[in-house]
Amino acid sequence: MQRLTGIGASPGVVAGRAVILIQREQVLRYRVPSARVEKEIARLSAGRDATRQQLAEIRSSISRKHGADLASIFDAQLLMLDDQKLIQRAAEMVREQRVNAAWAIQRIFDEFSGVFDDIADDYLRERKGDIADLAGRLKMNLQRGASSPRELLRELDEASVLVADELPPSIAAQVDWTKVRGFATDAGSRTYHTAILARSLGVPAVVGLRDATRVVQPGQPVAIDGEAGDLILDPSDEILSRARRHEHDSAPAPGVQGEPAGPAVTIDGLQLRLDANIEFPDDLAAARYAGAEGIGLYRSEFLLMGGVRAWGAASADEEEQYAIYRRMLEGMAPGTVTIRTFDLDQEGGGMRGLRLSLLKPEPFRRQLRALLRASRHGALRIMFPFVSNVEELREARRLIKEVGSELGLGDEDLARVPVGAMIEVPAAAYTADLIARNADFLTIGTNDLIQYCLAVDRSDARVSQLYEPLHPAILRMVVMVRRAAARQKIPVSLCGEMASDPVVLALLVGLGLREFSMTPAAIPLARRLLQELRSDDLHAIARRALRLSTVEEIESELERNIVVSQRG
Ligand code: PEP
Ligand code: MG
Repeated sequence: MQRLTGIGASPGVVAGRAVILIQREQVLRYRVPSARVEKEIARLSAGRDATRQQLAEIRSSISRKHGADLASIFDAQLLMLDDQKLIQRAAEMVREQRVNAAWAIQRIFDEFSGVFDDIADDYLRERKGDIADLAGRLKMNLQRGASSPRELLRELDEASVLVADELPPSIAAQVDWTKVRGFATDAGSRTYHTAILARSLGVPAVVGLRDATRVVQPGQPVAIDGEAGDLILDPSDEILSRARRHEHDSAPAPGVQGEPAGPAVTIDGLQLRLDANIEFPDDLAAARYAGAEGIGLYRSEFLLMGGVRAWGAASADEEEQYAIYRRMLEGMAPGTVTIRTFDLDQEGGGMRGLRLSLLKPEPFRRQLRALLRASRHGALRIMFPFVSNVEELREARRLIKEVGSELGLGDEDLARVPVGAMIEVPAAAYTADLIARNADFLTIGTNDLIQYCLAVDRSDARVSQLYEPLHPAILRMVVMVRRAAARQKIPVSLCGEMASDPVVLALLVGLGLREFSMTPAAIPLARRLLQELRSDDLHAIARRALRLSTVEEIESELERNIVVSQRG
């Protein structure tokens, strides 16, 4: 047992296996869920093949331009890469210790470089740089096609404790805090954003640990004592049993109302709607607990977890879907539940969302039937993902009508179920006025809009720093969509992760949005912040932000003017 002491930021004792997040480098080190082990191993060989190809290309171009001598550096790297033992040992590590592929590679290379440290020969010692270079390239290739930290954190299959260098609220808001029991950070003080968020959710937390991410191993059993400010490595049975006694303290029981519900209200009385984004029907409890007014986005494709198989399988069965949707509507009453139809991306190349649903009308019709039948039991809105033109939307609406009449629903019944479009493809944003004429509401999905508008694949480490919610193009698109909705007199909301950063949220209010949907964990802080702000100030800040040319200028405008008083 070893104890690291920092600052207790939120009380409670919890235990679990450590998941290490190095936010600055965007890496996550964790115990691979057993179901993912083989996939992780397959990524190792794919990563090696990509690396080999790149090195061979670099080698031949250098040899052409500068001769064979210089190119020989890459021969050494290629030899090292193809050393039978490298990938084999990494695969063993993944299988036996269940560490993720990138982390296994890092550890093997760390050992390698350790050996070089002890070599007396200067020339050989300098070869260490080549090893680091190769390790970096291999890890970069492993990251491509890997899930984002957000997805990985959602897939954890055992009680965990997150140990991060830092944990900005926008990431904290994406974590499923029923699986991740608590967190510890190297950075931070009692007053920083994430600590406030932890307290309002009752998630035990310790901050200011300085080097916990270096000391703790991924998958190592750890406990957090948020009162004492301790992170305990390999905790004793006594501490584990204390943690077990506290296990249910922070998990919201169904029906328990934690935070106040209803709209958030600014100092000058502007009302803002805060809904929750959820992936699983069970998340309703967390949404209610966080004070969500309704569900602004239910990602229904999570029902089909398991991919292609599921399109025809029992989990997409109409009866089962009907029961789930009905339970959600009743559970959230009188709040509105916005259910997004399946947004699957199994075929790649942009064949996803509504496009894919229209291509495979049978499962789509089953979903629409289940939705319309459930609509009798609460306030339902149906939303289509990845709409890129008016024809798709019209065709989907035609199907709703057709399915409705099969079910004996008349125009009046159907009028009770608003049908909306997600605006997450730039083409839809540019034609929001046309889409708005064919929709009962719009929802801006900035997660996809940003990546398609800025031409940045978020899973590609080489460009991920260009993924920038505050890019002037994104702010303009938001304004464009808001205006189109206003002209058509239909509601518009925003459900991308950008709304879960309270400072960005304040800007969005300034840009004229009034409805938001976000991860439940982000709602309490959003409400608290908005209550301390004046809407006319926010409008003035937004007007200035719209005239600025760079992300940096926009960020500093926000930093100077939106004061998060709790931030200390
Ligand atoms: C979005 O694209 O902004 C969105 C909310 O949808 P998802 O994150 O599920 O793609
Ligand atoms: Mg999306």
